[in-house]
Amino acid sequence: MKAIFDDRQWLHDPKHFMANGKILPNPEQPGRIEVLQAGARAAGCVFETPKDAGLGPIAAVHTAEYLTFFKNIYRRWQYIDGAGDEVIPNIHPARRSDGYPKSATGQSGYHQADTACPIAKGTYEAAYWSAQSAIGGADHLLDGGGSAYVLSRPPGHHAFGDLAGGFCFLNNSAIAAQRLRDAGLRPAIVDVDVHHGNGTQGIFYDRDDVLTVSLHADPDRFYPFFWGHAQERGEGRGLGCNLNLPLARGTHDEGFLKALGTALERVSMHGADVVVVALGLDASIDDPFQGLAVTQDGFSRIGAAFAALGLPVLFVQEGGYLSDSLGKNLTRVLDGYQTAA
Ligand SMILES: [Zn+2]
Repeated sequence: MKAIFDDRQWLHDPKHFMANGKILPNPEQPGRIEVLQAGARAAGCVFETPKDAGLGPIAAVHTAEYLTFFKNIYRRWQYIDGAGDEVIPNIHPARRSDGYPKSATGQSGYHQADTACPIAKGTYEAAYWSAQSAIGGADHLLDGGGSAYVLSRPPGHHAFGDLAGGFCFLNNSAIAAQRLRDAGLRPAIVDVDVHHGNGTQGIFYDRDDVLTVSLHADPDRFYPFFWGHAQERGEGRGLGCNLNLPLARGTHDEGFLKALGTALERVSMHGADVVVVALGLDASIDDPFQGLAVTQDGFSRIGAAFAALGLPVLFVQEGGYLSDSLGKNLTRVLDGYQTAA
């Protein structure tokens, strides 16, 4: 299977992460890259670098205002006396008026949902190329190359059209799905990350042409807390085109696979002709976030379940943090898919 990655994605190296009132090392480490590369290669993936498709396919999902902020904010932040080396807001307005602050600090609060998405010198370039990798994966599929794996990192599924959050800046899965949609296909996004894909949901919430489905640990007691509940079903034309399947903390393989069956039935009933898998691997029993308890065997079965759909699949990397099984979990998904396809 073809895999896509660009070395400029190494440039994002976040330092800070705040949890439970403590400043901790950020878990979205560049070291994830080599573990995921090894995991993909063990499943027979051959990596190539993406072309530069420009900002158009990214701006098809993100606002020009947000992209302007994201490209320039690190440079602007340096003009603040005594500023730190990462852009982290100290205000997160839950309700935003129509007004748009002029200051770097105000705009940072406007466009960064939490403290888990610090922006440093290389963040924009890394996220830009992570998105280009996703676009490259979509183009590979459109060119008839078949299913592919995108090592998109930094990840994307918590990023809304105008809002970064939870380690995410540009929504790679949404950008890829929109690219496929613009080429006349009818995509469904299935998000198997342990965290709800709130940004992806937000981007397509009022649309009926891209189905969004997410399986995740119940947000009543798990990030992102404010999205991911079963009653969020879309709005307007999109009502009924968003499906959330929150799972009890610690759910094992059987519970996860049962919910995935429900998700894939919905994909079929959408008439989807291509699937974007928002491939978080942090539902693993070994993941430091400890939300769900999917085993390596479970990840093989997840891969096989996607193969059983009989549709081309674009696997877009989301979360999944350093543990002894991170690379193996990726190998298992891709092997499970290829064996059953
Ligand atoms: Zn996650």
